[in-house]
Amino acid sequence: KEARDSNQTLIEYKNDYREKEENNLILLGEIKDSIQNDDFFLKYLPKLDLKNNEIIGAEALIRWNHPEKGQISPGLFIPQVEKTALINDLTYWVVKKSCQELNQLKEAGIDINISINITPRNLLDNNFIDNLFKIISNHDLRPADFDLELTETDIMQDIDTAAIKLSELSQAGFNISLDDFGTGYSSLSYLKELPFNSLKVDQIFIKDIYQKPKSKEIVSAAIKLGHIIGCQVVAEGVETEQTITELNSLKCDYIQGFYITEPLVIADFIDWHHNY
Ligand code: C2E
Ligand code: MG
Ligand code: MG
Ligand code: MG
Repeated sequence: KEARDSNQTLIEYKNDYREKEENNLILLGEIKDSIQNDDFFLKYLPKLDLKNNEIIGAEALIRWNHPEKGQISPGLFIPQVEKTALINDLTYWVVKKSCQELNQLKEAGIDINISINITPRNLLDNNFIDNLFKIISNHDLRPADFDLELTETDIMQDIDTAAIKLSELSQAGFNISLDDFGTGYSSLSYLKELPFNSLKVDQIFIKDIYQKPKSKEIVSAAIKLGHIIGCQVVAEGVETEQTITELNSLKCDYIQGFYITEPLVIADFIDWHHNY
């Protein structure tokens, strides 16, 4: 009976697996179509400088306007897309769109940086840097207008490639950020080798900073570590005034989070910024 059960489980597993694979294929096909039909849009999450209360940047966060299912958040499709070369097309779409929208910001008199989330697959594309450069200069913008964010788990997947590509990007003038710091597989040794401009402390540490002494100590240590390696430190997921007070006392440089505002589409971002 046990053998039959385990056979049954195996069949179910295979069916499950097949169904999953089929779903993935459908998803990738839909993504391809949606890139062509421009069925994506970006929302912007501002980055605030705690020193002077100025908005110094905004992170572009992708949303999928699915023809039938409506708005879908990136957590539900990016992980699948990142496993395939299609992530390159999607990243180029994000770069193009954020160039257009950065120019709208400039026309509105708002001079800030835009952060873009990239992934290891992007670094494996040999034309990545050239392509970015072309798109950006076609829009009369410069690499220094952008900040490229990568997570530490991403980087550890292939540390040698990451080291080479990130220093090329850095030399080309892009700012480089280490995203979700503290949650991935990290090694302190790569921190000193890679050309990071900023380190983003993940929201899981920020959320309970004023309730849990341990979280506060961890964030304090992360901020010091960031400063030692010459980085600006960004706190992610700031939702309360108390959190800001704590982060100020720990000499954190920048904050992001729903306390400032939820992510906004470009027109709303411009309105919001004018009233800020
Ligand atoms: P991330 O880069 O770490 O972005 C931060 C995520 O945390 C965003 O979720 C943001 O909306 C959310 N967040 C920020 N502040 C707060 C807060 O105070 N409270 C709460 N509850 N949430 C907050 P989102 O937009 O769903 O993005 C999730 C992840 O998807 C991003 O994490 C990033 O890894 C990925 N992603 C988003 N856009 C892109 C993209 O264009 N390309 C790629 N490759 N990945 C993207
Ligand atoms: Mg990010
Ligand atoms: Mg993050
Ligand atoms: Mg994240």
